[in-house]
Amino acid sequence: MVNNKFNYTDISDDCIKCGKCKTVCTIFNVNQDETTSPRGFIDLLGAYKRDELELDKTAKDIFESCFLCTNCVEVCPNDLPTDMIIEQVRSDIAKKYGITWYKRAFFFLLRHRKIMDFMAKMGWVFQTCGLKINAQNQSSKLRINLPIEMIKDRTLPFADRTSFLNSNPENIINHKENKEFKKVAVFIGCMGNYAYTNIGKSLLKILEKLEIDAFIPKKQLCCGAPAYFTGDFDTVDYLIKKNIEYFETFIDDVDAIIIPEATCSAMINTDWAHFLHDQPDWKKRAIKLAPKVIMATKWLENNTKLVELLKNNGKAMSEIVTYHDPCHAKKMQGVFKEPRNLIEQNYKIDEMSDPNECCGFGGVTMQSEKYHIAKAVGVKKAAMINKTKASVVSAECSACRMQITDSLGRTDTDVIFKNPIELIADAL
Ligand code: SF4
Ligand code: SF4
Repeated sequence: MVNNKFNYTDISDDCIKCGKCKTVCTIFNVNQDETTSPRGFIDLLGAYKRDELELDKTAKDIFESCFLCTNCVEVCPNDLPTDMIIEQVRSDIAKKYGITWYKRAFFFLLRHRKIMDFMAKMGWVFQTCGLKINAQNQSSKLRINLPIEMIKDRTLPFADRTSFLNSNPENIINHKENKEFKKVAVFIGCMGNYAYTNIGKSLLKILEKLEIDAFIPKKQLCCGAPAYFTGDFDTVDYLIKKNIEYFETFIDDVDAIIIPEATCSAMINTDWAHFLHDQPDWKKRAIKLAPKVIMATKWLENNTKLVELLKNNGKAMSEIVTYHDPCHAKKMQGVFKEPRNLIEQNYKIDEMSDPNECCGFGGVTMQSEKYHIAKAVGVKKAAMINKTKASVVSAECSACRMQITDSLGRTDTDVIFKNPIELIADAL
């Protein structure tokens, strides 16, 4: 049983009600309602802790409307962890109300890689019956446009024929004989494994050009982020521990575990230790692994000659790129210069007006029951992107990719999405 890390009353007492968090809050900017603002969440959680507020359906609805974007944490003078207390209360909500059947089914698949592989394969076989595929944008739309908000006019990812993990050998030797060499493990993330498989292919191409050996740990499981944001702490506990045990078997043999996904990387190098706060032995093990778990662009820029290689190849790519900062990259890991610096060696960058503004992905609940809110936030991001001269929008995050591609799909645009790793590989 997981004990609560945060005392809501203490946090509520520490809130000086300055309101700095409100203007930057993703959900407040949609609802314009104090109850769904960081200050409101904190106040309500204080009342809940003091038994003055029941965790009824209204409270559930309120606490499930946070995007966990951490905008509020970034500006709060007292560094109050609003995102983490929302994650904590979602566990109470899950205990009280249970978890909807389709989320439970999804989390079951995340725990069982073999069954997930089979389901993805089935998805690939049958998807052409129900989906119109746009291969260039790695996206699809339903052939029959049902009048249900969650799927109407929606652009979705689709499963590739074979997952990234099943398409590549475990060990790829790229270094020249008798030369000093580097070796990295690749953690690919579930979306990159099943849907956006070109990210992994591109990363392997970059490593090959740099003569860096790649280890593809075949038994890696989901980092646990989707279950964490939904309050399914049993699944999180299971996934973290399985991964820790597995990572420990190879961590000393690699220079780093690189991840072309902001959310997975932040989950592993930051949130695993938070989650394990009441299990000191496991927490210690998570903390020991964390320094070697790094976003792919950051590691490539700081530890290789990739910038030089891109500069020297002199290739000027015709696409203009605009870069969106995933919340879990810039705010949680301070990664924002690295992808830009790598991209701009070969592409022109035209910045959108606010690259740091959350795209509105928000997690499994936001993308299902609360999709209308995700959609409302996405409209703003799509307009911002369409105002630039870019033909490509990039972000090192497949959750942002899914949300941004969907948001752009509702506008009249040819802008497509590429992970920075794909852009870099195209330029090599
Ligand atoms: S995490 Fe984002 S959506 Fe949630 S309260 Fe903070 S700013 Fe608002
Ligand atoms: S910025 Fe921090 S201290 Fe100020 S109102 Fe928001 S949560 Fe409270």
